[in-house]
This record gives sequence, C-alpha cells and structure tokens, in this order.
Amino acid sequence: CIVVLGSLNMDLLLRVPHAPAAGETLHGHSIDHLPGGKGGNQAVGCARQGARVRMLGCVGDDAHGRALRDALAQDGIDTAGVQTDAQAPTGVALVMVDDSAQNRIVVIPGANAGVQVEDAALAQQLHGAAFLLVQFETPLAQVARALEVAARVGCRVLLNPSPVAAMPAAFWSQVDTLVVNEVEAQALGGLPVHGPAEAAVAARALGARGPERVVVTLGAQGAVAVDGQGCRHHPAPGVEAVDTTAAGDTFLGAFAVALARGTPFEAAVQLGIRAAALCVARPGAQPSIPRRAEVLRSPLP
Ligand code: ADP
Repeated sequence: CIVVLGSLNMDLLLRVPHAPAAGETLHGHSIDHLPGGKGGNQAVGCARQGARVRMLGCVGDDAHGRALRDALAQDGIDTAGVQTDAQAPTGVALVMVDDSAQNRIVVIPGANAGVQVEDAALAQQLHGAAFLLVQFETPLAQVARALEVAARVGCRVLLNPSPVAAMPAAFWSQVDTLVVNEVEAQALGGLPVHGPAEAAVAARALGARGPERVVVTLGAQGAVAVDGQGCRHHPAPGVEAVDTTAAGDTFLGAFAVALARGTPFEAAVQLGIRAAALCVARPGAQPSIPRRAEVLRSPLP
C-alpha cells in the first residue's frame, strides 16, 4: 500500500467573464465544488492506478470536510487517518477562471494547518507500506516528523516538495525519491532550470545531496530522471493541453504505484508521463486523473 500525508482542499471553481476589479461586482458564469489539494489529488492518482492507499490529512467539521472524505472513499481510499479539526474550516482553494482561461487562485489552508502526525499510529500505518508520499502543503514540522518515523521503520519516502520551501537539512538523507518541476528544481538547486539539459544538471546535483532517484518534470517536454544508473530524458506524447491542473499530481500517482509494484525506474517514469498526458487533455483536477487501464492503452511517447 501507499501512505499519503498531505493537503485536502475543496476547490471552488468560479467561471467569470473577467476578473473583478477592486470595488466591482460581477455576475459569473458558474460555480463547481471539486475535491482537490495536492495530497488528495496524489492519493486519488495512486488509487486510480489500482494501489491500496491510506490518506493522512485534516479537514474541518463541516460540509466540505465530509464531501472530501466521501470523495476519497469513493476512490477506495482508506480515510481512517483523516483527522477532523473542529476549530478550523476545511481547506479551500478559490479558483477564478476568466474567459481567456487565465486563472487566479486563493488558498485558505484552514484545517490542513492543524494536521498532527502521531508517531506510533504512523509507524503502524507505514508497516508494510511501499512508500510514504508527501508534499509541502502541510506544515513542514509535521512532514519532518513523518520522515523521521519513516526512516525509523524503514519505509521509503517519495517527496514532492511543492509548493517549494527551503528543505530542512535532515530531509536530504531521509528521502528515497524526489520529484520536482522546473520551478522547484531551480529553487532547490539554485541554478536556472529550463528544459532537459539544465534539468539534468539540477537532477544530478539534487541527487548528490542524498536521494537515490530524482525526477524533474518538464511540462510538455516530459521529464528527466536520474538514478545510480545514469540520467535520461523521457519526452511526453504530443497532446492538446486543455487543463494542466493536477498534471504533476497525476504523474506522481502513476509513478509511485509503478515503483511500488517493482517496475524499473525508467519504465515507472514513462507510466507517469503517459498518465499525466491523459490528465492534461481533459478539464478539471481529480475528475481528469486517469485509471490504470486507460494509461496502459495510451500511446507510448
Ligand atoms: P506541475 O504541473 O507540477 O508544474 P509539470 O508542468 O512539469 O508539473 O507537469 C507534470 C507532467 O505532466 C510532465 O512531466 C508531463 O509528463 C505532463 N505534462 C504537463 N504538461 C503537458 C503537456 N502540455 N503535454 C503533455 N504532457 C504534459
């Protein structure tokens, strides 16, 4: 199984003709409530590839929280580790998309800020798990605690440090596999990262700090993958991108499940790329995350 520690947000998607200016009141086109948050999206990404998934996170005692739990459960995800913070609202991302497809996003972390890692409970949950999968949308102190427990029980850690923040020094030796996009690779490595050549330099440099494997995702250009065997660029299939929301999360899910199943590293990266290509070709976050059968049917890049 895969244990995911991360954020759970309700995305409120507002479609509007244009972004309202200060003082302006405007009639929008529509509103949708869509389950989101990087943690939730990556958990769904794993579950749709057929893995058993345990979600650790925190929601408020409100309708959004109940809807998020239900959505996870519908994907077969174990939500026993989803905590409720009675003092805080469920995390919300207000996403405003205008007629020219530009988006403006406000995130209120709410209950995500209150997630508590309990060492003994986590140690038990990680027992027999292939990976602990974490991002940076939950407080770093809790991520640090989870990484310590994982190290103690010998569970591999797959880290997606997004949104990027300074990495506590201890993380480098506790992370088995690091997955970053160009912005994150640049922030952590301190060198510009645009395209495969610079991504390869960054991936090697990040790998030298500790992780066994590093993947830098490159949007439409696919990904660069580095491990002890070397460095390779894997292109993405050409698709018409409709909505790239959750592309990275979809990559993470399919990649993590492939690794957990024992798929060799390079082949796991390719499965991640194929899954993400399906995701960008359709609208929405979680609704656009493909299932295993679709990924296996999809064209090779
Ligand atoms: P993030 O969404 O986290 O910033 P990327 O933009 O690098 O991450 O996208 C993650 C993965 O999604 C890429 O490695 C690629 O496989 C896939 N992807 C993203 N955009 C496209 C696109 N336009 N065409 C095909 N694949 C894409």
